[in-house]
Amino acid sequence: MTTQQLPTHTDVLIVGAGPAGLALAASLAQLGIEHVIIDQKPTAAAGSKAAGIQPRSLEYLARIGVSDVLVDDGLRGGGFAVVDRDRSLIRMSYESIASPFPFLLLISQQQTEIRLAERLNTLGGNVVRSTRLVSLQEEFPGSAATVVDEDGFARVINARYVVGCDGIHSTVRRLSGLDFPGDAPAALFALADAEIETPTRNLDTTFSLSDHGMLITSPLPGGLIRVVAGVPDDTPAPSVSDIVELLRTRAGAWAKDVHVTSLTDSSTYRVQQRVAPTLRNGNVFLVGDAAHTHSPAGGQGMNTGMQDAANLAWKLHHALTGRAAEHILDSYDAERRPVAHGLIAFTSQLMQLATVGDPHLAALRNETLLGAARVPDVTDWLATKLSQLDIGYPNPTAGDAGADAVQVLLVYPVWLPHIWSSDAPPGPGVVHPAAAPLRCVQ
Ligand SMILES: Cc1cc2nc3c(=O)[nH]c(=O)nc-3n(C[C@H](O)[C@H](O)[C@H](O)COP(=O)(O)OP(=O)(O)OC[C@H]3O[C@@H](n4cnc5c(N)ncnc54)[C@H](O)[C@@H]3O)c2cc1C
Repeated sequence: MTTQQLPTHTDVLIVGAGPAGLALAASLAQLGIEHVIIDQKPTAAAGSKAAGIQPRSLEYLARIGVSDVLVDDGLRGGGFAVVDRDRSLIRMSYESIASPFPFLLLISQQQTEIRLAERLNTLGGNVVRSTRLVSLQEEFPGSAATVVDEDGFARVINARYVVGCDGIHSTVRRLSGLDFPGDAPAALFALADAEIETPTRNLDTTFSLSDHGMLITSPLPGGLIRVVAGVPDDTPAPSVSDIVELLRTRAGAWAKDVHVTSLTDSSTYRVQQRVAPTLRNGNVFLVGDAAHTHSPAGGQGMNTGMQDAANLAWKLHHALTGRAAEHILDSYDAERRPVAHGLIAFTSQLMQLATVGDPHLAALRNETLLGAARVPDVTDWLATKLSQLDIGYPNPTAGDAGADAVQVLLVYPVWLPHIWSSDAPPGPGVVHPAAAPLRCVQ
């Protein structure tokens, strides 16, 4: 479909075809909801960016029928490890977590987006590319969105709901008059995907805490290794020799044998920590980086965006098909914004721990981690948190929780025994937040 072929009306206009927008489009297509998805770029973004899919996201991706192919494409990572050069401090293994996907799937964001777009095509949808949103006007009962293609051809689409999946500099957020409060800690990270001669057999994502600074290494398919390192301000994107030096000075003895042949991707990344004041403004929603952004530590960002999509998709379906009252859509903000705030607190603590500069404090941190690793259940608790399986919605939207719980009882009698999460589309696992008191694990 081109800009000229766009319909004049749609139920849901999705702006942005990154992982969040693609996941939302695939979910809506699966649920039979009419939608349009546009992206200003002519093709899917190059560059690997996020490099891991968490078990919680894989469970959702299984529901939309795309997990198998992703698992085939990726590597099954064992979890996270923290080391001080060659000394193991703590390991958060995913092997025994309670999920059908007990691993961190190591795969580039680009490949994830390719597979999501393919799945969307199979479900009958497609991304209208080289088309950007330029204005949004309220037009009862939705919005009139003006979009422009690369030749300057403009068109208006009337959408009942508009979802901004358009990333950190979101136009939808700006046009809705929403701020993006937060901060940008003075921390710069160098990031590269390095081709190495002998693929590493260690499939853990490893935080190396050395006197020279923090280094994260993680294998990727195709004989690549992802390298992320805290670097001084104004450092340019790393070269092969920079990566070799970072590995030599910050990683353990294993890195001495690593021969880096080339870099397939190299950039620097400045962390921002921001959450929009609301994820719903009338008929407009924010999803993914448009709604929240934070440190990439722990591989949570892209995953959180896809889980936003999971949470919103079935609610849009219910509101549009009359299966639930429209105010079910309020629970999207009520449930997902606290998750975003929690994520900022968690990832910023991780980064503070990983980047302690004072040698005495660093020694204390290392001893604390070693001690924590010996306390029963601590590593399992951390693995569950990192895998995002701990996310739940225990505090239903205030007010009519009891009434809504009754409605859930009426609407979902068959599925009640399986209630556990509000991210699931209709089927086993569906629940309105008001059903939290009825929660039980599948
Ligand atoms: C260098 C780098 C490394 C990263 N590493 C990690 C990592 O290791 N782990 C992690 O979890 N996260 C990482 N991230 C963050 C991760 O990439 C994001 O969280 C993720 O891409 C967010 O997905 P999204 O779909 O919300 O937005 P995006 O991926 O940003 O997609 C937004 C889309 O909207 C489109 N768009 C924007 N404006 C308009 C408009 N007006 N009209 C139409 N289309 C528009 C854009 O073209 C884009 O395709 C990294 C990011 C960068 C830049």
